[in-house]
Amino acid sequence: MRPGAKRNTEDINYYVDGILSGNRVVLSQAITLVESKLANHQALAQRIIEQCLPHSGRALRLGITGVPGVGKSTFIEVLGMKIIEGGGQLAVLAIDPSSQISKGSILGDKTRMERLSSAPQAYIRPSPAGDSLGGVARKTRETILLCEAAGFNHILVETVGVGQSEVTVHSMVDFFLLLLLPGAGDELQGIKRGIVEMADLLAVNKADGDVAKKAQLSAADYRNALHFYPAKESQWIPPVMTCSALNDVGVAEIWECILSYQEFTQKSGFFDQQREQQTKNWFQESIQQLLTQQFFNFPGMIDHLQSLEKKVMDRELSPVHAAHMLLQTFWAQQNRS
Ligand code: GDP
Repeated sequence: MRPGAKRNTEDINYYVDGILSGNRVVLSQAITLVESKLANHQALAQRIIEQCLPHSGRALRLGITGVPGVGKSTFIEVLGMKIIEGGGQLAVLAIDPSSQISKGSILGDKTRMERLSSAPQAYIRPSPAGDSLGGVARKTRETILLCEAAGFNHILVETVGVGQSEVTVHSMVDFFLLLLLPGAGDELQGIKRGIVEMADLLAVNKADGDVAKKAQLSAADYRNALHFYPAKESQWIPPVMTCSALNDVGVAEIWECILSYQEFTQKSGFFDQQREQQTKNWFQESIQQLLTQQFFNFPGMIDHLQSLEKKVMDRELSPVHAAHMLLQTFWAQQNRS
């Protein structure tokens, strides 16, 4: 930041200089703008992001998922400490679609990741309370870019492994890790087959004490099950490992595996290809989101929609015809305004 620079919400240089110099206070302020619903905040956030874009993209982006209680935060704490002890800078972000309901957030609890939270090389940002998964995802994608511009070369995105949010996280990371509980099949844990399919590594956590043996058996079951899954586009064969985040056993091996994945996919070109595809998808999604938003926010649109909906329900109009009529009204009003 320029010496003596003061915070001025209009002063884009305050934010950009602050972020590029690794100032965490400014980074947090910029993320708050990204998360804000106010139109002027969002416009400013977009300008900041654009200026940060040339400085982004250089981090390794990891996604981590698993059911609540599987040990995600314990694992992230141990892995995170290894990353920073190895000289890395780590930002931990979260996608938590449930936070809106619980009013809590998966990273909000200060007792979680105690060592990591106090490490100067780590930055932990709780999940934004979003009104939709799409909204939360957009904010997380933009937050990743800002964290990268601030010099974080490792980004870890955590999500609760029970639903749609995994697909979203998968669409913004280079490597996707699924943590599993010993002794229960993925269906019992409520993990959908699609999530197992997306994983680049499966790790059965809590492989310690009485359940150590059970964990090995679960890992063997997963190894067998994975034979029936289609080959991955990356040509990477996802290994199944065991670990005890609590005792720091097996975590170093998992980290080694993540690094070999990075090397493997960088050599094959898949790493860059996947990033390109993710950016394209993000662009497409943004178009769809903006169109939908503008469409439904247009004055009178909801009333018109409701009256047509009634006609559709009364079988006076076909749904497709009604949709065309709605769009015609939208364009006609757009042209007038
Ligand atoms: P999260 O909800 O997935 O983030 O899970 P937490 O990291 O909060 O862990 C949930 C509980 O499992 C806590 O009581 C942890 O101490 C415990 N736990 C986490 N990892 C391990 C492990 O490797 N072994 C054992 N025995 N307990 C663990």
